[in-house]
Amino acid sequence: MKLVLATHNQGKVKELTKMLRVGAGLPSPYQQIEVVSLKAYPDAPEVVEDGETYMENAAKKASAIAEYTGCLALADDAGLEVDALNGAPGIHSKRWAGEDATDAIRIAKLLQALEGRTDRRARFIAAIAVVHPNSVPKGVRGVCEGYITHAPKGETGFGYDPVFVPDGYEQTFAELGEEIKNQISHRAKALKKALYWL
Ligand code: IMP
Repeated sequence: MKLVLATHNQGKVKELTKMLRVGAGLPSPYQQIEVVSLKAYPDAPEVVEDGETYMENAAKKASAIAEYTGCLALADDAGLEVDALNGAPGIHSKRWAGEDATDAIRIAKLLQALEGRTDRRARFIAAIAVVHPNSVPKGVRGVCEGYITHAPKGETGFGYDPVFVPDGYEQTFAELGEEIKNQISHRAKALKKALYWL
């Protein structure tokens, strides 16, 4: 069975592929799944992420790709919610610092917004939608609680990983590395629940 990951974000493709292959400790039937990314479908439609919830966006992306490819599709929509910023950047995490912003620019904007703030609680939220062709999307959420550091640290992962320390740890996701992140992250938690539908 082919599963298409409905995202152009190579950080997500890497994490999801790894978790689907090994990280989630999948029982053998799942190991038959052939995971492909949108790189295999260069003309796939661009999906506008204009939903009001993570789940709406994930369902929209997975449905469009399931329809286009005729294959089982999985999409993830995620964001970082910071208490001191009333939940921002939240669902706008990608475009918060401008349409073409890099991860470094997003991080700089976040650290600036939190300058002088002692309350640095935050959480990553991920919604994952799975769609079989011609069926309605099924969705699950995963949450990872933690806090925002004062400066970026670490090299691995993507997005806000260098400034996010998950609860129970003293290093950022980018320092902890993909093996630990893939066990405890918002995306890992949602994916483990989504496996029931594959
Ligand atoms: P998207 O809309 O789901 O692609 O994600 C929005 C933004 O949230 C991304 O561009 C990243 O900046 C951030 N993000 C989502 N998931 C993660 C993660 O696992 N680590 C760090 N940043 C993330």
